[in-house]
Amino acid sequence: MKFADIPGFEALKKSLVNAVDTGHVAHAQLFAGSEGGVSLMLAIAFGQYLNCENPTEGDSCGRCPSCIKTQKFIHPDFHLCFPFAKSKLVGEAEELNAYLPLFRSFLLDTPFGTLSDWAAKAEFENRTPIINIKAVRDTMQGLQLKAYEAKYKIQLIWLPETMRSEGSNSFLKLLEEPPPFTVFLLVSTAPEILLPTVISRTQRISVPRLNGFELAAFLEDKFQIEPNKAMAISGLAEGSIPDALSLFNEKEDDYHHLFMDWQRSCYRNSIDKLVSHMESFGALGKELQKSFLKYSLNKIRNSMALNSGARETVHLQEAELNDLFNLGKVFSLPLIQLLIEEIETAHYHIDRNASAKMVFMDISLKMANGYASLKN
Ligand SMILES: [Zn+2]
Repeated sequence: MKFADIPGFEALKKSLVNAVDTGHVAHAQLFAGSEGGVSLMLAIAFGQYLNCENPTEGDSCGRCPSCIKTQKFIHPDFHLCFPFAKSKLVGEAEELNAYLPLFRSFLLDTPFGTLSDWAAKAEFENRTPIINIKAVRDTMQGLQLKAYEAKYKIQLIWLPETMRSEGSNSFLKLLEEPPPFTVFLLVSTAPEILLPTVISRTQRISVPRLNGFELAAFLEDKFQIEPNKAMAISGLAEGSIPDALSLFNEKEDDYHHLFMDWQRSCYRNSIDKLVSHMESFGALGKELQKSFLKYSLNKIRNSMALNSGARETVHLQEAELNDLFNLGKVFSLPLIQLLIEEIETAHYHIDRNASAKMVFMDISLKMANGYASLKN
């Protein structure tokens, strides 16, 4: 992966390149950013740049033997460490190496994927993927050898926060006495739960969320999504590439009907229907639940805009516009505030693994109460 394959972050890329060009490469770097962002991609591009044999214009060449192997994740000096749990796909193996081919294909397909995406791909089912102590020991052993062919041995560690305490402590020792010419690239979405002693031995690179324009450009470029659609989706996805893609794939139509039915059932306080919506909602995966809530939030704002004369700011199909306009007619300001707050709270709780069905039922009943108060 080249830096050019990643949208935006020009200043950050430049400072990474500068560190290499001036020989100031910290031996351990912590790429910290939100889920579904580009931290992992930046770390990979940086690792590729470090060992590129022919770098030009602030990027790796993408064509030398080192780049070609790194791009396929088969470079013998580019080591990967990542969380996993037993999976039937690899005969319930317990060694990191058994999961490497699967992980390579995950990186090739979705280098912006989340831990849930990886868990779904590798079919860990309900087991929690972690970097176990054996994986840390295997990693340590792998680094004892001299670099095979490259200048640096790169050790990429995706989600080091999934190490348990025994693993973290062993890893800390490795960071304290790093083998020569080794560069650790830690990619974390929750650096606050890493050991402070680990953090203090790394140079932190904060990777902000992609902004709407960067995300839209990425969707257009990599997935050939047409510009208007890409911009609309990225507005909802809040910088998360997987969220944007699931919004794109999860037919907006379905969301629209689900959303309208849901709001009608809340308005009519129809408990039977709300229970059935709750079941449908519970059956979606976590990322889809979150993206549906974001979609709903956006639709409530749209319907408010439509009724306050700001129709030109809302770009939707005619049928959708009419539905939302009619919905907006029943809104009052306090009700809108309530709906927005409840949806944001639900999103927060689902993100932190609360029971989706309970969260959904709770917010539905509060919304039904909100609608009822308008009728009194
Ligand atoms: Zn190269």
